[in-house]
Amino acid sequence: MYAEVIVDIAAEQVDRVFTYRVPEGETILPGTRVSVPFGRMEKEGFVIRLKETPDYEESRIKTILSVLEPYPAVLPKLMDLAFEIRERSHCPLSEALRLMLPAEMRGGRIKVKTEACARLLIPGDRIDEAVAAQNRAPKRRLLLTLLSDGEWHPVEELRGMIRDVREPLRYLVDREMAEITEREALRSPYYGEAETLPDPELTNEQTEALEELIPALRKPERPFLLHGVTGSGKTEVYIRLVRKALEMGKGAIILVPEIVLTPQMIQWFRSRFGDTMAVMHSRLSPGERFDEWRRIRLGHARIVIGARSAVFAPVENLGVVIVDEEHEQTYLSDRFPRYDAREIAISRGKREGAVAVLASATPSIYSYAMSRRGDYTLIEMPRRVLDRPMPKVHLVDMREELRLGNHSMFSALLQNKLDDCIQKGQQAMLFINRRGYASSVNCRKCGETIKCSRCDVSMTYHSVDRTLRCHYCGEIRPMPKACPSCRSPYIRPMGTGTQKVEEELNKRFPGAGVIRMDMDTTSGKNAHFDLVNRFRAGQAQILLGTQMIAKGLDFPQVTLVGAVMADLTLNFPDYRAPERTFQLLVQVAGRAGRGNSPGEVVIQTYQPDHYAVLGAAQQDYRAFFNQEFGRRKRDLYPPFTLMARFLCEAREMENAMQTAEEIKKKVLGEFGSSTLGKRILFIRSDEAPISRIQDRARAHVLMKLLNHPDTEKLLQRFQEMAGESYPAKVLLEINPASLA
Ligand code: ADP
Ligand code: ZN
Ligand code: ZN
Repeated sequence: MYAEVIVDIAAEQVDRVFTYRVPEGETILPGTRVSVPFGRMEKEGFVIRLKETPDYEESRIKTILSVLEPYPAVLPKLMDLAFEIRERSHCPLSEALRLMLPAEMRGGRIKVKTEACARLLIPGDRIDEAVAAQNRAPKRRLLLTLLSDGEWHPVEELRGMIRDVREPLRYLVDREMAEITEREALRSPYYGEAETLPDPELTNEQTEALEELIPALRKPERPFLLHGVTGSGKTEVYIRLVRKALEMGKGAIILVPEIVLTPQMIQWFRSRFGDTMAVMHSRLSPGERFDEWRRIRLGHARIVIGARSAVFAPVENLGVVIVDEEHEQTYLSDRFPRYDAREIAISRGKREGAVAVLASATPSIYSYAMSRRGDYTLIEMPRRVLDRPMPKVHLVDMREELRLGNHSMFSALLQNKLDDCIQKGQQAMLFINRRGYASSVNCRKCGETIKCSRCDVSMTYHSVDRTLRCHYCGEIRPMPKACPSCRSPYIRPMGTGTQKVEEELNKRFPGAGVIRMDMDTTSGKNAHFDLVNRFRAGQAQILLGTQMIAKGLDFPQVTLVGAVMADLTLNFPDYRAPERTFQLLVQVAGRAGRGNSPGEVVIQTYQPDHYAVLGAAQQDYRAFFNQEFGRRKRDLYPPFTLMARFLCEAREMENAMQTAEEIKKKVLGEFGSSTLGKRILFIRSDEAPISRIQDRARAHVLMKLLNHPDTEKLLQRFQEMAGESYPAKVLLEINPASLA
């Protein structure tokens, strides 16, 4: 037998198969990882196909050195998917295959961990007798009792309960009453015990949603878009659907935007499904990630909850794949090869006969448009569970506040509501848009803002250690004493980072307790779990945070939500700014009134008449969609068009700009007035909005392309152009998550 192998080398980009001989007596399945001789080196590779006869001279064919895992690391269906990704993202197959594995598996950087375990060999009905016989040897007695369930117990764990456990253990082993072996240890990423909860009785809307979803498990057709308002109980729908899939012998994948939003989802699922559930996300240690991956691959875990990359989890016989908060940008991968986890979820659904469900309270314009066109089946859950009212939303015009002489960042209304909430002993959440946005340091004399020396962005002031930090590259500098530009001493941090608000709140409400959640306070592995749990346990009355508290969290005691700087995102130079702002505000507002007491929301805004702000205040998705869809159609934005750009990065701006000009000329020269060229509605070369990141100058060629079947041909040609050689590094981006 011969095997066609893709060698796992990225740098050289050897994107073709090489033939190797399968060692005598070895059976290898496609998808198996092997070690092969490659030139003078030994390399890892994936077996793609097996064949009886080689396609060239037999004597020149080398033999596979070893098989890396005793099973195919890439399932056949995922192998097909990798081929599809290669086509779509124009990347080498080895790159697409890498998406399917934890990075640590490659290069043998991580090994299966083993530990010594002991178990009893005495038959169950003789154990009592054995224990009784040891009534003069308390350690042996205790050991026998601990082992009496007949299961394997790690010796390390026994050592924690019995001092000097080796002696009684040896006694039992010597008499063949117990045995000790090295067993595979699975590193557990779980944190805290899961409480077991009974199933709540389903609401009518949940029942109706499930009546559409469950039959699809047998015969999936189109993907579903589940549009359920905040607090409508979507998670319970996922749980029941997944349980049905399990009963049918199928597995499930649930994607969540980021781990900071998942502690509750993980706890809810764990309490219902226990160890058949695995988690996959970037905060696991390499060992944990590898072990979780293996639990899934070997079928011990049938349900996977994870962030974007979990869409590639090796779940066999997939029954359902759910994308929670499908509108989130985190589903777009920003690394090469770029992919959209929603597209992959739908593609896996089709390929593997699984139900694909995209769900959100604020679906992306794209997905909702797809459901209107009939490409997705729309399921709506327009009411909260148990007839809980939607929160009451107040809009406050901050320009008016200033006119009335209020210079603080809290409007009079928010202050009153907050006083009231604290006094009543209830909880409040305060949301600040973007960490440290306004905590830039400015000179009050010359107006200069202190910027990072390597990136074209303002640095952020951190009061704890009086430093300035760049959130793009991590540069840290001490706070200067004078303005670097005019030497005036009147420089100081402006406005409001989360820390500043925290200080102010502590002053205003001594004793209420403030928990702050932002990138700084959640960097530890379990920090977000701890903070969320502390707030849930009522250890503080105010939760203050950035984007990461805006979505997904469920705190029944929260009755007041304040969006302090609500609409900063509205001014971003991006066609999605209204959509992002609307989503964020609806999600923030949705944190209020999720328990028995109704909720109130104060949105502080500078643009109270903007349709995104108004739509959010009225919690009216459809009204917003219609406005936004109309605007996109009129101004030719996605989904009617594609935004594409060549991002050009170089040390010097001159080179970046020169490259951008060159590419623009090339595009115009080649397509000019051709039919294909008519698909290009707009093309411009320019410095990127953030003109420098990590000391790389950035320029781009920005294009708007008509969404037409032809357009794919253009994109393919663009991809080739991006690969040609220029003074700058060039990357083609299609509908990138950010145009900055
Ligand atoms: P969503 O994700 O749609 O915003 P959640 O799934 O977080 O909503 O549910 C909101 C709250 O309602 C949670 O506290 C959840 O435990 C509760 N809940 C969900 N379904 C039911 C039900 N059938 N009966 C009672 N409470 C429910
Ligand atoms: Zn100055
Ligand atoms: Zn920087």
